[in-house]
Amino acid sequence: MPGPLRRLWTYAARHRSRMWWASTLSVVNKVLDIAPEILIGGAVDIVVRRERSWLSGFGVVAVRDQILVLAALTFVVWALESLTEYGYELLWRNLAQTVEHQLRVETYAHTLDLDLAYFEDASTGGLMAVINDDVNQLERFLDRGANELIQTVVAVGGVAAVFFVLAPSVAALAVIPIPLIIWGSIQFTRRMAPRYSAVRDQAGNLASQLSNAIGGVATIKAFTAEDREVDRLQDESERYRVVNRWAIRLSAGFIPGIRVFILAGFLATLIYGGFRTLDGTLEVAAFSVLVFLTQRLLWPLTRLGETLDLYQRAMASTQRIFDLLDTARTVVSGHVPLSNPKGAVEFEAVSFSYRTGPQVLTGIELSIPAGSTVAVVGATGSGKTTLIKLLLRFADPTSGRITLDGHDLRSLELEDLRSAMALVSQDVFLFHGSVRENIAYGRPDATTDEIVAAAEAAEAHEFILELAEGYDTIVGERGQKLSGGQRQRLSIARALLCDSPVLILDEATSAVDNETEAAIQRSLRRIAHQRTMLVIAHRLSTIRHADRIYVMDGGAVVEEGSHDDLAARGGIYAGLWSVQTGMVTGDG
Ligand code: ADP
Repeated sequence: MPGPLRRLWTYAARHRSRMWWASTLSVVNKVLDIAPEILIGGAVDIVVRRERSWLSGFGVVAVRDQILVLAALTFVVWALESLTEYGYELLWRNLAQTVEHQLRVETYAHTLDLDLAYFEDASTGGLMAVINDDVNQLERFLDRGANELIQTVVAVGGVAAVFFVLAPSVAALAVIPIPLIIWGSIQFTRRMAPRYSAVRDQAGNLASQLSNAIGGVATIKAFTAEDREVDRLQDESERYRVVNRWAIRLSAGFIPGIRVFILAGFLATLIYGGFRTLDGTLEVAAFSVLVFLTQRLLWPLTRLGETLDLYQRAMASTQRIFDLLDTARTVVSGHVPLSNPKGAVEFEAVSFSYRTGPQVLTGIELSIPAGSTVAVVGATGSGKTTLIKLLLRFADPTSGRITLDGHDLRSLELEDLRSAMALVSQDVFLFHGSVRENIAYGRPDATTDEIVAAAEAAEAHEFILELAEGYDTIVGERGQKLSGGQRQRLSIARALLCDSPVLILDEATSAVDNETEAAIQRSLRRIAHQRTMLVIAHRLSTIRHADRIYVMDGGAVVEEGSHDDLAARGGIYAGLWSVQTGMVTGDG
């Protein structure tokens, strides 16, 4: 069994018993489906041989009675065929839905679990193409493909058996094309595989182009780049068309090609069988069954092509799904539970480099005692945000270690670690939903009083009440219906509601007006004494009162101390401070 199919089979193991039932019904149904042709032979036999017919051997001698018995038999066969068809359709299709549902949910859950670094390289559209389109593609195969394969085998095997019973020499001629058809189908499948993977990959590229562009629609408009973006999409879409055309060129030729082999088998039966019937060495009834059945023997094999086609696409998709499921995390949870965290954080000789690029942090030593407020300042690119990523364990240090209450972060339960920290990040992300839901994102069970208290502490309560529907106002995708300052305050309320012992604040460089800044400062001062705070500051005024300030430059800590110490020292900090307070004088 090829890799992806084997994986799928193992994956669907929990549904084995349902699969057996479905397969049994598929087999019974196909046998019943071949029966009418044999019954036609029976009818011909009755009118030709009358009292000496095959049916008379079972004790029904009167010819009219024989016809009635045959009619009753036909009725039963057709009724059972319908029933079993209903049964297998129900089972196979629901099974397809179930497997699809499980795979979709599992892939999604797995994706959310992956390292943040993974998402920096993967494209959103590409991931969506796997979780959505590829899973759907698989469903199309499971829906019909498995049943088709089983029924083809049964049809060919069953019909061939009937052939050999009735007329072995004709049968030998009729089955000659079978190996050729199967060989042709396999060749076909093999050639199709790379073409379908190319189609799936290009579908992913197309999706990522789309999601990227629609996500940045405001920028596109601002730079009047609509035409350029349409051109870009047109190029991707054209590439999609080209790879599809490559696939279609081959796939469209399959059935016409196979038909030639079928024609050969059919003509052989017609001519050879016809001559033998004329010679009197083959019964008329047997000849009619054979002629009708040759089609039933060979046509299902053409469906084999379609099914293999479906199969091949499904396997391309399955491969992509399992590739995603196989993507491993590098950040794995430790086992030490963290109860009642105090929030003391230490960076001990921490160095770090991203998978690509140079070392970003070098020998960082930071000490943040529980309950204190520590600020980190430094030019853009000096590594401040990277510090936060390491603290939240979005990645692990290349060397050195970070501890929380004395425990190496790597030893702690990941969930406990992340619950101990609340993050207000620079680019606030709000979800499509109400203000209330967004504030309660970290604690969905919070009461209204708690939500309001958090909003008040973040100085967001007043503006929320002024919104059209107060706390029930829908903020729009990514919160685009709110101003930057409002989003910022909501994100502070959201972090405060979590009531985590460590609050990390990556201060926004822009988007915050003076009034918002003042509000944020007030709320921070109010909450600072209740928890450990790590503030990444761009405005030094925000951190004047921090217990300790670290100054970073080029990935290393170059100065540390209180505001007054640093301002007096005449180093980098003092320089920044004089720029920001406007104390730099041009000419003395
Ligand atoms: P700051 O927050 O001080 O502006 P960052 O911590 O964001 O600085 O970035 C520090 C350095 O790391 C920069 O040179 C930046 O280009 C690099 N960097 C940030 N993120 C990544 C990443 N995902 N992959 C590779 N390099 C990165």
